[in-house]
Amino acid sequence: MTPLIEVRTLSFSYPDGHAALRNVSLTIHEGEKVALVGPNGAGKSTLMLHLNGILRPTAGAVRITGLEVRDENLGRVRGAVGLVFQDPDDQLFSPTVFDDVAFGPIYQGLPAADVQRRVQAALDAVRMGHMARRVSHHLSTGEKKRIAIATVLSMSPAVLVLDEPSAGLDPRARRGLIGLLRELPQAMLVATHDLRMVQELLPRTVVMDEGGVVADGPTAAILADAALLDAHGLEIA
Ligand code: ADP
Repeated sequence: MTPLIEVRTLSFSYPDGHAALRNVSLTIHEGEKVALVGPNGAGKSTLMLHLNGILRPTAGAVRITGLEVRDENLGRVRGAVGLVFQDPDDQLFSPTVFDDVAFGPIYQGLPAADVQRRVQAALDAVRMGHMARRVSHHLSTGEKKRIAIATVLSMSPAVLVLDEPSAGLDPRARRGLIGLLRELPQAMLVATHDLRMVQELLPRTVVMDEGGVVADGPTAAILADAALLDAHGLEIA
């Protein structure tokens, strides 16, 4: 089976010369829900930005559904990877929720009736079906996070890549978000410091530190390894 995400010996340095990723390899298949954990500065966001071509490897390669991430494949890669930023204000920029969620399908050139269907299905999936006419910028953080997820679900992605989805949410909003992520059928890679969410939702965990992958395995085994958690600044809060 072709992996949804295949990162092979990826290294990346920022223009200032800082080596943010060192020889990272990671493969994710259909149906997998994977946590990406590690201290601040480990390289998690830098890795995620490679998965839809915002950043390009200094060395190594990234393939999405078998397609190498490069200019001629960018449209298809971005349709396959739904990247949700930590701050929903980076994702929501239209006057209404409908416009935000419709943006991707319209850009993909879908007919109006299909756009309408996609938007409704995406909003229903995040339990925000009644919100289409609301003004995105007037919503609560929890609601904005859900709408940000809907903006990528409307593109029918094969895999979701989420940066800190539960950060900044109150307990009820966090609980609701975990519930809806559990119900989504897509494979997902979730960068987070919320190890309780990892325990509940994500059966596989990848640990990064200093730009490299230091562990990759079943979440239960990784979270039971006190020495590993301690060595990489991880704590089950
Ligand atoms: P994480 O998401 O795990 O907190 P990041 O991917 O944001 O880690 O950062 C990895 C490293 O790259 C950090 O040392 C960070 O300071 C550095 N970094 C991030 N963005 C830039 C940038 N635009 N220019 C230079 N260095 C950067």
